[in-house]
Amino acid sequence: METFPSIGLGTWKLRPEHSYMAVTTAVRMGYRHIDCASTYGNEEEIGRALRKLLAEGTVSREELWITSKLPNTAHDPDAVLPAVEKSLGDLQLKYLDTCLMHWPVALKPGVWIPRKADHFHSLEEMPLDRTWAAMEKLVGRGKVRCLGVCNFSIRKLNELFGTAYLPPHFNQVESHPYLQQSAMLEFCQKNGIRMVAYAPLGSGDRPKPLVRRGEPVLLEDTVICEVAMNHQVPPSAVLLAWALQRGTAVIPKASNPQHMKANLIAAYLQLSDEEMHRITGLERHYRYIDGSFWVLPNGPYTLSNLWDE
Ligand code: NAP
Repeated sequence: METFPSIGLGTWKLRPEHSYMAVTTAVRMGYRHIDCASTYGNEEEIGRALRKLLAEGTVSREELWITSKLPNTAHDPDAVLPAVEKSLGDLQLKYLDTCLMHWPVALKPGVWIPRKADHFHSLEEMPLDRTWAAMEKLVGRGKVRCLGVCNFSIRKLNELFGTAYLPPHFNQVESHPYLQQSAMLEFCQKNGIRMVAYAPLGSGDRPKPLVRRGEPVLLEDTVICEVAMNHQVPPSAVLLAWALQRGTAVIPKASNPQHMKANLIAAYLQLSDEEMHRITGLERHYRYIDGSFWVLPNGPYTLSNLWDE
């Protein structure tokens, strides 16, 4: 855990044909933490980049922190090891530093985008603790160094603590000034979980069906832009520095090398207490990724049982 780099490169939406270059550029620039998932459809290209970077000696395997995620279609305990072996094969790695359960949502095998209720397993049919128990075995087999979850509520984390043999080390959740998740951060800090903030820049390149008309744009927020002007840095650096200063890790996705470089600035930017306080005042409980794609008529998932709120 000590070597967990607080700034990682997000890879959702990195097109396969851009992923080799993006990861190569990022690691050469100094990124040591790459946030992957088999459902992002680009692990093979990321694997080619990692193999090249390791072979040429740009980094050693021990210096990298590679995260991947258990697909929602692999919650069946028998499907867990094959799914992680697939990621390992694509990434050309012997082990993952972290494997995260991608969502507390179980899809039937072969389903890509659920279109009807029958495409899901309910959590009664496919309980999270059974999936977790199968994930724990990955650690014993040397396939994964540590485990975590994504998109878990405090309630689901508490339930997992009640049954887990190995507690989760990470909860990766959406977090930024419009959705600060302060209670989650406090819970995680009390319980030895590292909270990792996804969509820290507002996920502006989400697929169109996930974008709501007239939604607030974080990178254009007046307060964020004013603080950025004061420090003569881009707004992105303020968003990331705020997240780091309050104790979360961040995984901004960037395909543009200038963005990648700008995002590393955040590690050196110190915001004043007053600036932190102003940004904290921006909370509006706004989810860019609200999980409504899991909610179908007569399906087992609702927004309230997904987020437990
Ligand atoms: P994000 O990182 O908030 O935003 C990505 C967008 O910001 C891209 O359009 C990117 O542009 C742009 N950008 C990056 N750096 C910038 C800068 N310095 N200035 C201006 N624009 C900048 O959104 P995200 O990709 O949704 O979230 C980050 C990562 O979190 C994902 O990639 C994924 O790894 C992870 N994630 C996990 C889950 C989960 O369920 N566990 C869900 C969502 C995301 P360019 O690409 O053009 O550089």
